[in-house]
Amino acid sequence: SAKEAISKVYKEVLSEDKKMSEQERGKVADYIPELAAANPEYFGISIATSNGSVVSVGDSEIPFSIQSISKPFIYGLALKDHNDDKGFSVNNRVGLNATGHAFNSILSITEKEDHRQNPMVNAGAIQVTSYVKKGSENNKWTHALNFINSLTDGKTFLGEKVYRSEAATNQNNQKIANLLFDYKMIDDNPMDALDRYTKACSIMITSKQLALMGATLANGGINPLTKKRVLSANQVRDVLSQMVVSGLYENSGAWWTEVGLPTKSGVAGGLLAVFPHKYAIAVFSPRLDKAGNTVRGQAVIKKISQMYNLHMLH
Ligand code: GLN
Repeated sequence: SAKEAISKVYKEVLSEDKKMSEQERGKVADYIPELAAANPEYFGISIATSNGSVVSVGDSEIPFSIQSISKPFIYGLALKDHNDDKGFSVNNRVGLNATGHAFNSILSITEKEDHRQNPMVNAGAIQVTSYVKKGSENNKWTHALNFINSLTDGKTFLGEKVYRSEAATNQNNQKIANLLFDYKMIDDNPMDALDRYTKACSIMITSKQLALMGATLANGGINPLTKKRVLSANQVRDVLSQMVVSGLYENSGAWWTEVGLPTKSGVAGGLLAVFPHKYAIAVFSPRLDKAGNTVRGQAVIKKISQMYNLHMLH
């Protein structure tokens, strides 16, 4: 059963972890003060099928900030919000190619002639966040949070502490937002776009809820719990494609080769992999490698991909 499989992987990863050097085990993100305070030993795994059943092991009920795993979904929301716009195409404005650089790279923006970065790295994500429209509640942030909730069980919320901690220390992202504005890539006030982006990164989620978000993608854009369509099949295809291209930043090519599943990481230690039409796997473990990807999370998904031959090009 799925429960037995993830319990086995959970134990294996924990025991391999004990044999690793401190450097190999990675460390919690320290550039956001609130994340530096995280318990490095948290470890949870959840699998949600495309019909909405979830099995979990470990710390699957502990909320952590979604961080960059909000990026593919906010990109999906921007696509959705502009679906019927004649003169405006999100995909014609944002980058769609790999950057080969760290997620917060400024060099990557300046060195590229058209400056475009994909929506899985900070620059592209801040850019597409500026394209999110006002929703029925007439507020762009509430619209974004409601959208995230519509992909899962409706119970995610803004983590005020993480949000304030990052907002007080995100000078590098401020530079990025201002650069994008200068290059006429965002229409909004750049600090408003950045504020919305920072809030989206500070949404609190459990591995269970995250697996359900992935299940909505695996289910072609229909939330298996509510049966409501939240993204079209084409939007899901674009979202998953960008996860393949840059979901693990500069390590995305090696990851794709080895694992072959669209995957997205976040610096609070979340990792979400989607096996289209079947299920999604979410892992939470705060210790990160140098690229900012969870060490145990990667180990879990690698093992599951190998055990079940999930590589999509296999
Ligand atoms: N909020 C984080 C940042 O902007 C997200 C980064 C990440 O998860 N890789 O730096």
